[in-house]
Formats: sequence, structure tokens, C-alpha cells
Amino acid sequence: MALDVPTLMVVSVFVTLIVGLLFLFSWNQGRRTRALAILGAAHLLGAVGSALLCARGLIADWISIGVANALVLAAYGLIWSATRSFDGRPARTGATLAGAALWCGACLVPAFYGSMTARVVLASGLAGAYCALAARETWRGRAERLPSRGPAAALLASEGALYGVRIPLALAFPVGMGTQPAPTPMLALLCFLAILYTVAVAFLFVALGKERLELEQRRAADTDALTGVANRRALQSWAAAQFRRGEATLLLLDLDHFKRINDTWGHGVGDAVLVGFCTAARALLPQDGILGRLGGEEFACLLPGTDRARARQVAEAIRRSTALMRPAALPGFAVTVSIGAATGRDFDALMRRADRALYRAKDLGRDRVVWAEEEAAGPATRRGARIKVGSV
Ligand code: GH3
Ligand code: MG
Ligand code: MG
Repeated sequence: MALDVPTLMVVSVFVTLIVGLLFLFSWNQGRRTRALAILGAAHLLGAVGSALLCARGLIADWISIGVANALVLAAYGLIWSATRSFDGRPARTGATLAGAALWCGACLVPAFYGSMTARVVLASGLAGAYCALAARETWRGRAERLPSRGPAAALLASEGALYGVRIPLALAFPVGMGTQPAPTPMLALLCFLAILYTVAVAFLFVALGKERLELEQRRAADTDALTGVANRRALQSWAAAQFRRGEATLLLLDLDHFKRINDTWGHGVGDAVLVGFCTAARALLPQDGILGRLGGEEFACLLPGTDRARARQVAEAIRRSTALMRPAALPGFAVTVSIGAATGRDFDALMRRADRALYRAKDLGRDRVVWAEEEAAGPATRRGARIKVGSV
């Protein structure tokens, strides 16, 4: 089967055009991902450039060579710009259009303009460089785990590599001084691959936009809207995963006399105290710990493992830092927290035991940590008492 270059080029123009329109359509649904709009513009520009390339011999050479390639290079610049925009990096208009500008400048030099090889080398070098930069930008954001990110970066890198390979090939097999490229099998293959790349890049970037949206929605569903810590649902699924691996310590934390804060200073101040408490508590958690809001002024903290000394230190640190908060909005009022703690491997049983310990902490006067096993015996750590880690 012989691949016909002019046919492939015409197909490429229409595929690029449709992909550009689909990008704009996809962006228009919510208008959240600006990168999709930039990709839409890039593909529409690329389609016009490719159409002008196809018209070689039918229109003036300075349009089908000079303007056409400048548009295609501007399209590649925009693709790079879109990958930057996708990860929130600022636009670089100068660098985005530098390839097209360099091309236009080179075309003003007769020796360059008259050499098909020189033109192929420069255009391939610039397009390949933009693809490589776009691949790098896409890969740089990999901390955000989106399944299509790796394939998108690999695809852009391979497109860059393909342009790179074209340079030594053009130098090894010069294509003469004419204006019309010879319809070699190599050119046919390149046209064919260009179509595949256009479709695959479109698919992956639309997928990336959707994956990010899903990730944000999943995060929102797992997060308490006021304080930003995990909500009960997220805490439970985190606990379920932890208990499959082993035991954990649960700290149940309840702010003391919180109703008084609301009643005296209003709900707004109460909310600010909840946020301040979470910020302080979260900063004291070890990396493998999680803090969640069960509701109201009740929180839970899960610490993997059975290291009670560590759990005691964390609980005491949270209790102490809460007592030291002294918000300016609450003159003369000390915010304190009572904590019930228990270690085990069953979430519901842990909740019951830690809850009993918490009640005991409240009964004993609040602002203290009580362990489930010690609740009957009396308070393990009283207000201001020193924790004896060795006795754990
Ligand atoms: P104790 O020391 O026994 O825990 O007393 P308390 O006043 O902290 O406990 P109580 O259960 O009587 O009151 C909890 C209050 O928390 C009642 C409710 O209005 C308030 N609350 C629950 N959710 C929120 C919230 O999201 N924001 C604010 N500002 N208040 C809340
Ligand atoms: Mg309370
Ligand atoms: Mg409560």
C-alpha cells in the first residue's frame, strides 16, 4: 500500500481543524481549563498553516513556505504554552512566538530561503524543541497524579524525537533547491505520524482536564469545607486502609466549652477558633498521621502503629498548643481541648473506647489526655502534669 503525500496532507489539515474545534468545545464546557482553549487556538492555527503548506504551487511561495511554516511553528509554541498553563505556570509570549519569528527572519536570507534542506532542518529543529519543552512541562507537574500525564509527556517527547531524527536525515539526503518537497515514503510516514500525534495529543489532554476535575471533586468530597482537614468519610476509609496493615492509635479531640464561645462571641469567632485549632493541630502531626473532623467541635486523629510514647507526645503537644492559643477575639477565655485515646485495630471499637476516655477527661475537669485503659484508674496526664514516657 502506497501512502499518498498530498492526500495525507489534506487529511491532516481537516483532522487538525476538527481537533482544534473539539478543544474549544471541551474548554467551553465550564471554561475552567484555559490550556484547552490555548490548544484549540494552536490547532486552528496549525490547520491554517498546514492548509497553506498544501497549497504549495497554487499560491505565492512566500505564503506557502514563509507564512505557512511560521503559523505551524506558532502552533507548536502555543502547544508548549498550553502545557505551562495546564500546571499554572505563567505564559511566556516572547518564547511562544520566538520560533515563528526566527523562521520569518531566516526566510529573509536568500541562501536559507532557497535551500529546502536548510528549511527542513530549521523548521524540524524548532518544532522538535517546542515538543521537547512541552514534554518537560507536562512531566514537571507529575506530583499531581493524573493517569494520562505520563503518556502525554512520552507522546510529546517522542514527537520531539521524531523531528530530531528528521534533521540528520535531511542533511544526509539533501532534497535539493526546489520549493516542492519530493513525495518520498519518509515524508508520507511523517505526514501519517503527524495525524496520529494530533489525535493522540487531543485525546490525552482532554483526558487530563477531566482527570484533574475528578481529582478535585474527590478531594472536595473527602475534605471538611470549614477547616480543610479530612471529613468523617475520608477518615474512615483512611482508617480501614491502615487497619489492613496493622494497629493504630485513635485520639478523639473535643474542644471544651465551645458552646460558650459561640454564645458569647458569635458563630464567626467560633468558626475561626475551629480553623485555628486545626491549623495548630495539623502542624504537630507526624507525617503518617491524619486529622479529621467528625462534626461540630469534635475531631479525630489517627496515628499508625502501637508506639504509645509517640502518640502520647502528639496528644500532649496538641493539648498544650491549644491551651496556648489565646485568640485575641476571645479576651479572658482560654481555648482548651480534652482528648480520649485508644490503641487497636477496629475502628468502631476504637471509637467507643476513645469516646469513653474522652468522657472521663471531661469529667475530670477537661484540658487533659486520658487513655482508654486508664480511664477507670484515673487521669494519666493531668493539666500541667508531666508525661512519663517511660511508664507507657
Ligand atoms: P464540652 O466541654 O462538654 O464539650 O462543651 P461544649 O460546649 O464544647 O459542647 P456542646 O456539645 O454543648 O457544644 C458544642 C457546640 O458546637 C454547639 C454547636 O453550636 C457548636 N458547633 C457545632 N458545629 C459548629 C460549627 O461548625 N461552627 C461553630 N461556630 N459552632 C459549631
Ligand atoms: Mg466540646
Ligand atoms: Mg462535642
